[in-house]
Amino acid sequence: MPKYYLTTAIDYSNGDPHLGHALEKVGADCIARYRRLRGDEVHFLMGMDEHSQAVLQAAEQNGLPPQAWVDRMAARFEAFWQRLECSNDDWIRTTEPRHHRTVAALLERIKTHSPDDLFEGEYEGLYCIGCEEFKQPSQIVNGRCIEHPTLELVPTKERNHFFRLSRYRDRLLALIRSGELRVEPAIRRNEILRLLEDGLQDISVSRNRQSWGIPFPGDPEQTVYVWFDALINYLSATGYPDPGYERLWPADLHVVGKGITRFHCVIWPAMLLSAGVALPREVWAHGYVQWEGTKMSKSAGTAVTLGEAIDRHGPDALRYFLLREVGFEADGNFTWERFDERYTADLADGLGNLASRSLAMLARYRDGVVPAASDETRLDQAGREAVAGYAKAMDALDLRGGAEAAWGLVATANLYIQQVAPWALAKAGRDAELDEALASLARALYRLAVLTSPFLPGKALLLWQSLGLQSLHLAAGWGGLERPPVAGLVTTKPEVLFPKPASV
Ligand SMILES: [Zn+2]
Repeated sequence: MPKYYLTTAIDYSNGDPHLGHALEKVGADCIARYRRLRGDEVHFLMGMDEHSQAVLQAAEQNGLPPQAWVDRMAARFEAFWQRLECSNDDWIRTTEPRHHRTVAALLERIKTHSPDDLFEGEYEGLYCIGCEEFKQPSQIVNGRCIEHPTLELVPTKERNHFFRLSRYRDRLLALIRSGELRVEPAIRRNEILRLLEDGLQDISVSRNRQSWGIPFPGDPEQTVYVWFDALINYLSATGYPDPGYERLWPADLHVVGKGITRFHCVIWPAMLLSAGVALPREVWAHGYVQWEGTKMSKSAGTAVTLGEAIDRHGPDALRYFLLREVGFEADGNFTWERFDERYTADLADGLGNLASRSLAMLARYRDGVVPAASDETRLDQAGREAVAGYAKAMDALDLRGGAEAAWGLVATANLYIQQVAPWALAKAGRDAELDEALASLARALYRLAVLTSPFLPGKALLLWQSLGLQSLHLAAGWGGLERPPVAGLVTTKPEVLFPKPASV
């Protein structure tokens, strides 16, 4: 089995997660679940970035020691990700000893492998605590950081350790242009290429005398710069530098937001090149969830909380809406109106109605047992085409395209019921045709349970079980998509998959 190691960005522990965080996590989870369906040995990592100054400030404001604060926040984030059915195999926190050990080991490796890459110097500049980085003039508007217009930039001058990032410009350009390091989607790749073409400056990789963070190896007065620390989490989770870390490394995919591509596509690969460690294969940078046209963020997060959005129609519906409507590529809008419309049209009246009508007819006309019949109806043809279109989209991380292919089959199957009218076939005693229609609908439900499972893990499992199939086999269901083995299955009518709320 090929391994597939994917990661999400790790989040600052300074406030509750919002819809923007949720989009990234469910998108990565959708990819992880799809890769498992395809037979990959998936390792899916999520976690927390706990050493930032903003975290320290939040702890102080809440009257807690920083460790107690980050423990509390990690538990809150994890509870949200569990509600949203994230299937991560590991959960890393940058305050863990295993991470400190890998940070120290990687810095030592850089010192021995590329002795000129770390040097001491003075730094003077404007620091954004929200981004945790020094800002260049091009990133400052009206004296404030573009990403954090409500925060004051902090003038800073101090002795730091520096990393010779400038040295890696040509190699990074070549690696990204050749696709050896894939940066997707193309709009993000082009941004990174332009940034590299403009040239790179060396970066400070330590901060002076900070009480919270990882001490810089060999210089206890300095603390490892939080971004340098945080990026290494992806490697820490593999057990680096212990032998065997290559079982997982290199990462196959880093899923991140479009605002942090410079860290993941420039600084992180340069750090790895400097240490002589293999590079990740791909970085995918998604867009932002917008609320009334502005980026969802901690400050704007009061408009809608993640908890409210989950409560509206349940976790599966929110996952589906984020990936289908808001989208995993460009920025997209979240509105209650569109959420309710999608819920009703695609889930309640679409997939839910298809399942309930098909299973009810199987119960009424065949005591729930799926008849053996030809798999050459036009619905089966549409099913095979949907599977092919879905796989093509999902392989390219086009999650919206994958959902469109699956829901295209939902629409075709609902239309098929109207056109074939199984109730009329039953009334006329046309048993062979009725068998063919019912079997074909059961195969459509089999295909849809598998194809929708990365988007709707909970509801897809209910659908799968109502077909008389075992939960264990959903992961192996992909192999049955060409000719779904449904003849003789004893189906049951499930609870209503997507109930219509009275208020909608
Ligand atoms: Zn900022």
